[in-house]
Amino acid sequence: MGESSYLEQLFSLRGQVALVTGAARGIGQTVAFGLARAGAEVCALDRLDAGATVKSIQDAGGRAFSLTADVTDEAQVEAAATEVIRRTGRIDIVFNNAGIGPHKAATEMSAAEWRQVVDVNLTGVFLVARATGRLMIERGIRGSIINMASMSATIVNVPQLQAAYNASKAGVRHLSKTLAVEWAPYGIRVNSLSPGYIATPMVVGISPEMKQAWESRIPLRRMGTPEELVGAVIYLASGAASYTSGHDLVADGGYTCL
Ligand code: NDP
Repeated sequence: MGESSYLEQLFSLRGQVALVTGAARGIGQTVAFGLARAGAEVCALDRLDAGATVKSIQDAGGRAFSLTADVTDEAQVEAAATEVIRRTGRIDIVFNNAGIGPHKAATEMSAAEWRQVVDVNLTGVFLVARATGRLMIERGIRGSIINMASMSATIVNVPQLQAAYNASKAGVRHLSKTLAVEWAPYGIRVNSLSPGYIATPMVVGISPEMKQAWESRIPLRRMGTPEELVGAVIYLASGAASYTSGHDLVADGGYTCL
């Protein structure tokens, strides 16, 4: 009992290829590194260069390469997914993570600003899932797609105003459940991840008052770190979650309990 090989077998991603979007920084960068440590070869995709993520993985002895694509651009997404197959022959895991989170009152938000948030956070997730799901289906790969939602898919954050973000993330959560059902016949699992506040470049610009307002509402009384999401993604990606599909995994320090 207690052999490390048992845990290794349960959670190992060895021999698998993982595509991570928004991998140049923040949660995507940290999770890409974690997936590589669990054995996956990682394609770090971002709008700009994710070379630093690739270098950190390679320096630690892992396998990775980067691709640039804007997840809102259908042709770029299709080309990137095809390129992953061309280079590695497979895509087993997708961490569909790229996203933006502007704060703006609904009354002040232009249609173009609304569309941009929905385009990146929801349509981008759909385009990446569609491109990679198709390739998995064509090749008979029983893959795992993990879409980045948020606790904002369920609750309304305060005091900041972010109607478009909340609506887009609620869309991601339900899109994930829908694809989980649609692609279950192919053995493809689709889940979503819903973090609470995580200290990344997306949120470092907030005022001390805002930080205090957030942390006072979190039962664990602190923001999370990107490292605290790695295990959740590895779990959903791995054989340990082979019977888990259509689930929304919440990692929020207890925020949504209140
Ligand atoms: P960051 O802003 O730190 O990183 C997001 C990455 O996504 C950046 O590298 C960004 O590139 C990239 N990106 C943005 N738009 C596109 C696009 N159109 N195409 C390709 N890449 C793009 O954010 P986080 O790491 O904090 O967030 C990652 C995900 O987690 C997001 O979906 C976010 O909504 C979600 N999330 C974050 C939480 C948090 O508290 N931080 C909480 C819950 C969910 P660029 O630098 O060029 O913009």
